[in-house]
Formats: sequence, structure tokens, C-alpha cells
Amino acid sequence: MSPQDWAGALAETDNFAARHPRELPRKSIPAGHGVFYRGLLMAAISDEAKMKLRAVLAFAWILAFAASLLRAQSEDQIRHLAHDIFQQLIETNTTESSGNTTAAAEAMARLFRDAGFSESDVRVLIPDQDPGKGNLVVRMHGSGARRPILLIGHLDVVEARREDWSTDPFRFIETDGYFYGRGTQDMKDGDAIWVATLIRFMRERYHPDRDLILALTADEETGKLDGVDWLLRNHRDLIDAEFVLNADSGGVVTDKGKPVNVSVEASEKIYVDYQLEVKNPGGHSSLPTRDNAIYHLADGLARLERYQFPFELNEVTRAYFRQMAATQSAETAQDMLAILQSPPDQPAISRLDDVPKYHATMRTTCVATRLDAGHANNALPQTARAVVNCRILPGHTREEIRRKLVEIFADPQIAVRYIDPVGQILDAAPSEPPPPKVTLRPDVMVPLTKVSSEMWPGAPVIPTMATGASDGILTEAAGMPTYGISGVAIDFDDVRYHGRDERVRVQSFYDGLEFYYRFLKLLTSEQ
Ligand SMILES: [Zn+2]
Repeated sequence: MSPQDWAGALAETDNFAARHPRELPRKSIPAGHGVFYRGLLMAAISDEAKMKLRAVLAFAWILAFAASLLRAQSEDQIRHLAHDIFQQLIETNTTESSGNTTAAAEAMARLFRDAGFSESDVRVLIPDQDPGKGNLVVRMHGSGARRPILLIGHLDVVEARREDWSTDPFRFIETDGYFYGRGTQDMKDGDAIWVATLIRFMRERYHPDRDLILALTADEETGKLDGVDWLLRNHRDLIDAEFVLNADSGGVVTDKGKPVNVSVEASEKIYVDYQLEVKNPGGHSSLPTRDNAIYHLADGLARLERYQFPFELNEVTRAYFRQMAATQSAETAQDMLAILQSPPDQPAISRLDDVPKYHATMRTTCVATRLDAGHANNALPQTARAVVNCRILPGHTREEIRRKLVEIFADPQIAVRYIDPVGQILDAAPSEPPPPKVTLRPDVMVPLTKVSSEMWPGAPVIPTMATGASDGILTEAAGMPTYGISGVAIDFDDVRYHGRDERVRVQSFYDGLEFYYRFLKLLTSEQ
């Protein structure tokens, strides 16, 4: 199935379910028929045979009941396990300032070893330069019929101060149907679900048809150098995979618990900062000259304000607008479909440009974020600097956009330099090939759509391109297609990651647990 077919078929089913909630086929037998047939059967046989048959039926019923009881019990045990892992992770402080991901990685490693994973398949890997930023890599062996799947999740969390919160952010608290604590949304929920699911597979002696590799990592929220990036540079062999699932992005969007859509992040924009600088000899402010560092910079920034990067869609963003159209008002839906035409409809593009999210999905964006100039109230400025932050559409490089900025500013006095991830300022961005084109792989999208429609019927699966950035950008750039999929539902107006009183619905967490159990099984067995 081509991705277009996939999206088309998907849109059809979703729309159908939404439009005709009562018309979905049901497997039901009219009431009373079972009794009628049993009556016929009983009338046709002898009393002794009836006794035997009743005993057999009763026994079969007891067996079925016992099996369902066992299943419920084991599901209950898995929930307990996932709950305890979640608690342990939340209560292990993994912030940059006072925390440590090594402790969390080691705690999870112990759980895997206790569950029967061998020493050599459970590795805690610690960068020499930063012993507190340990990473965990676990391999569950499959038959090897297909190449492995890598699951990535970060263990570190954003700072949280006790005085800003209603509860202690590093205590796992369950109240009013929610779990509270730093990392309940971002993203210890996903970490706990994966650890519990792999341990569940082990307990059930499930044998996948490909290896599953789990990497729980450091440094996603801060430098990004000691986590996934470090693993790719130092232990690529341990995490090499056909594709990657990242539970840090995508997700189930709900409105007061009711599913609205299931987003899968299939592409990310590239994050980059540039420094603008104008130098000038300066002088006394009572004798201004025409040549002024602040005016040069301000004029350049004004030209950037008026500039718009070209409209550009890719496979993922086309699917995004096509699927989103099904959930919008008539006018917006019409605009979304009109920009998919060739040529795209210009008035529709400019109407959608008014919505920051759509604007950022259709174009590379660059915006001034910092400004710093002059050294005294009565002196002509000798230096004027600004920072421009860009989010680049896939397919373009950081150096290409730096040169474009030089062109937009159209002022040789404005030096445009690249700021690297650790804050060093370089005259040019490193040369690099643009990241590979992202596709919506049917071997990921079809199982996802199936499980999603079982768990959140009627909520369309919507591919998205992240306008922010997660670790997925690193695995993507390393040539492993990466899909951001989280089975944990969050209300659209209850997004609290990085904020105070972070929380997740108890039911959402357990649904996510069930979702990933089913989804990973489909991805690792003959379809
Ligand atoms: Zn995160």
C-alpha cells in the first residue's frame, strides 16, 4: 500500500466511523437463539448423555472462566509492575542540576536482569566526561527474520522547584484520577511503559520476529551531547535498527478524556541559532554619524520581519493537512485541501499562514529572539548583536539558511554566524548533507492505525512534522527513519510538560501500556 493509499483509506474509515457511529458492523446473535438451539439439542439426546454433556459444558465454562481470571490477574500484575516502575522513575531525580540519569539507568537495568535478561543484553553506558549522564541499552532477542526496531526515551527531566509546585515534584502522587510528578508527561510515562512491556514479553516467553532494542538516555532536555548523540557516535552497533520509535513525541489528543486524534510525528524541523553582529568605531553620542551599528542591525531585522520563506510541503505535511481537514470547520478544511492542489491555492495559503502552527508547518521560519547593543547611554554603539532562531524544513541545510539570511539582510556590515549546540560561534555552519527524506512506512502506519482504531475508535491518525525538536532528529539524521508515537492521552488544554504540577491521567497511562503491548506485538510478528 503506498502512503497515499494508506492515508486515503484511513481518511475513509475514520470519516465513516465519525459520521456513522451506529452503522459499524457488529457481530451479534439475536437474543434467544442460543437458548432455542440448546433446547433442540437437549430434546434429541438421552438423559445420561444430557448429564455428561452438562458436566462437559460446566467444565468448559470453568476452564474459560479460569483462563479469563488468569488473564485479568496477569494484566493486573503488569499494571502493578508498570505503576511501580513509573513511581521509581519519578522519585529518582534526573534533573541536570541535582539529579543523575545513571542512577535511573542502573535501577532499570536491575529490573531487566531480575526479569531474566542476560548481563550482556543489559548495558549501562556512561560517558567518561559526565559520569552522571548514564544511558541504558537493552536488547530483547527475536528470531532475526527482520532488522531490529529501536525504542528511544529520555530519562532526564526539566528542573522543578518545590516552591513552584503544589506537591513535591519528585514524589509520585496519585490523586483525583491523576499521577503527579516531574516527568509524568515528559517522559517517564513512556519509559515506564516500555520497561514494563519488555518485561511482560519476557514473562510471557514471547518471541518477536526481530530484535527490540530499548535505549533510555540522558541529556535530551539540556546539551543533547551525552545521550542519543553520544550513543550514535560511540555505540552505533548496539542501537542500529531498521527504524526508530520515539515515545517523546506524537500522542493521543483528548478533550476531557474523549479522544480527538492520534498524532504520529514522522518528521522534524531542524533547530538552529545564528548570531548577527555589527561592529562600529563608535564615538560620542553628541556627534552622531550616519553609520550606526544599531541602525544597521535594526534595518536588517526589519527586512527579516517582512521576509517569508517559500511555501513547501513534503509527504508528511501533505498527509497532515489531508487528515486534519477531516477534523476542521468547513472553511478551514477547504483551505487545507486547496493547498494540496497543484498549483496550490495562494489565498488559502495566506489564510492558513495566519495560524502559527500551520505557518510553521508550511515554511522554514526564522525569528529574532535576542538583542544586545551599546555600552553607555551617551556613546555611539560599538557593537550590536542579535540572535535569530530558525526552524528549518527537512531537505535544507543549516549553511544554506545562513547564506539565505546574509542575502535577506543585504548589508555587508551584518556578519551572520552559526551558533553550534554548545554555544560556540562559527563563521559558517558545518557542511552536511540534508537529512534523508521522510516517508510514512506502511509497515509502521498500518499496524498503528489498526491498534489505534481499536483503542480510540473514531479518532483519526494524523502524521505531523514537529516544529520543535526531540532526540528523533538525531536518529533521523543518522539514517534511521524515526516515528514519534506515544500511546498516552493528554487533554489538549492540559499540556504541562516543563511546567508546574505536571500530571497524567491514571487511565491514560494504563491505556498507553496496553497500546504499546499490542502495537509492538504487531510490529514484531508476521502480519
Ligand atoms: Zn521530552
